[in-house]
Parts: sequence; C-alpha cells; structure tokens
Amino acid sequence: MIQVLKKCKNKQIFILGGGTNILFSDRGFRGIVIKLSGDFKKIGILNETVCAGAAASLSLLLNECAKSNLDGLQCCAGIPGSVGGAVYGNAGTNLGTISQHIKYIEAIDFSNAKLKILNKNEIEFSYRKSSINEIITRVFFSLKAANKNDILAQIQNLIDKRKSTQPIGIANAGCIFKNPPKMSSGKIIEDLGLKGLQIGGAEISYVHANFIVNKQNAKAADVLRLIEIIKQKAKEKFNIDLQEEIKIIGVGNEY
Ligand SMILES: Cc1cc2nc3c(=O)[nH]c(=O)nc-3n(C[C@H](O)[C@H](O)[C@H](O)COP(=O)(O)OP(=O)(O)OC[C@H]3O[C@@H](n4cnc5c(N)ncnc54)[C@H](O)[C@@H]3O)c2cc1C
Repeated sequence: MIQVLKKCKNKQIFILGGGTNILFSDRGFRGIVIKLSGDFKKIGILNETVCAGAAASLSLLLNECAKSNLDGLQCCAGIPGSVGGAVYGNAGTNLGTISQHIKYIEAIDFSNAKLKILNKNEIEFSYRKSSINEIITRVFFSLKAANKNDILAQIQNLIDKRKSTQPIGIANAGCIFKNPPKMSSGKIIEDLGLKGLQIGGAEISYVHANFIVNKQNAKAADVLRLIEIIKQKAKEKFNIDLQEEIKIIGVGNEY
C-alpha cells in the first residue's frame, strides 16, 4: 500500500470500501481509485480486543464478534460495506455508532505514505462523519464479554426490522440525506409527497422515502436530479437544508 501511494504522488486518489454509500458520476472519475483487499480483510480476536482489516466485511465482523461472545458492534447490524467505510463515516443506527467501540486505528498518511496510529482521542467523530484524513488499514476495537446467543438474536432482530422498513433486493446507496437534528429526512420527503417520483431509471422509494432505488439502468444523473428536486422542495416548503449522507464522487472531476 505504501509503495502504491508513493507511485500515486500528486494524483487525485479515492479510497473505495464496499461502495455502498457512493454515487459515482456517469462520466467516471479522473484519478486513481484504491480498493483494499487480500490481507486487509483479516479479522483477529484476542480476549476483548478485536483487530479488523479495513477491507473486512462489516457484517462478517459482527458475526465473528458474536461467535466470540463479544458485545457492542451489533449496533451496526444490517449495515452493508466494509469496516474502513463504516469507521470513516462513523456508521451506526439509533442504537449507537461504530466509533463508540474503537480503541485505535492504524492508517497511512496520504502526504508522506507513512504508517501511523490514530488514537481514539485524536479523532473527532460526529453524526456520519469523522475527521479521518488518512487511509484506514486496520481498526482495533475494545468490546465487552456477553452471551453469544443474546448478541446473535439482537443482530437478527435488527436485520428483520430493516426488511420491513427499507427497500430490500433493489440497488440503492442507503439513506441519501442525513437526518436534520430531531427530524427524519424520510418523513420530510414523504410529507413533500415525493415518494415514487421517478426520473429515468431512478425512483424515490415507496418503502422509505430517504432511499433512491435503481429501478432500471438508472444513471447517476437521474439520481442527482432527484436529489436536487428533494433539496429544492424541502427548502421551499419547510425551509430545511437537507445535506447528503451519500458521497458524490467525480462530479466536476470527470474524464
Ligand atoms: C441498504 C443500505 C442500508 C444502509 N444503512 C445504513 C445505516 O443504517 N447506518 C449507516 O451509518 N449507514 C448505512 N448505509 C450506508 C453505508 O452502508 C455505510 O455508510 C457504510 O459504512 C459504507 O461502507 P463502505 O465500505 O461501503 O464505504 P464506501 O461507500 O465505499 O465509502 C464511504 C466513504 O468511506 C471512505 N472509505 C472507505 N474505506 C476507507 C478506508 N479504508 N480508509 C479511508 N476512507 C475510506 C470512502 O472514501 C468514502 O468517502 C446503508 C447503505 C445501504 C445500501
């Protein structure tokens, strides 16, 4: 990884995790996309400390922790993607966020391609956001012992809940907008009467209005147009400035 970074000096770099929270421009991205794999997928557990490679699947990590009777990370049950992506965006649910369980992070600095350790207290975590500006390579979690069956039951319960409240089995990038303080973006979009609005192949989900689903060959431009309409109407009708939760990549920097 360090060798790769040295070769990419002065180039625009984008780190891709599982790609579950991203909208790429239809015309691509002028730069280098790095996706960690191989050894970066490894998970190791020693007593109550868990070390997970940034490319490890988050759901696999949750299951490994549960199997080892380790409690905590089930607040992230049902969130797709990688450990690196989850930590970068401080993924979570109303039960908690991944950052609550982090001990420290191993990362590579873009500027000098050097490996470094970021202690938890050196990183600012907030709602779906972190101050991390490096490539996360491994994450060390500190968890607590608990009963495996209770943890697995909690995970299953959260996954079942999602199945009835989110569009399942159709491509989407998760919640499009962050929730404004004490409000739900899904409810705002529903109140605007926008559920089911379709542009090209993209549609505001009937199941959960904060999801835009790819009904058929949707273009990023279709999704971006829907985002624009939602933001404009939310401002006009409720004076609310909705902020994207998804990361929009390449727009303004395409081939
Ligand atoms: C159906 C569905 C449901 C979802 N539900 C939730 C939910 O309940 N809660 C929630 O928080 N999110 C949710 N999401 C959003 C998404 O799954 C999470 O944000 C997830 O943590 C993103 O992980 P990823 O590996 O796919 O990251 P990506 O989407 O690939 O990347 C996200 C960001 O992380 C950065 N990144 C990725 N890996 C690294 C790394 N190694 N080092 C540095 N930066 C990195 C990327 O550059 C990018 O800026 C949902 C998504 C879907 C599709």
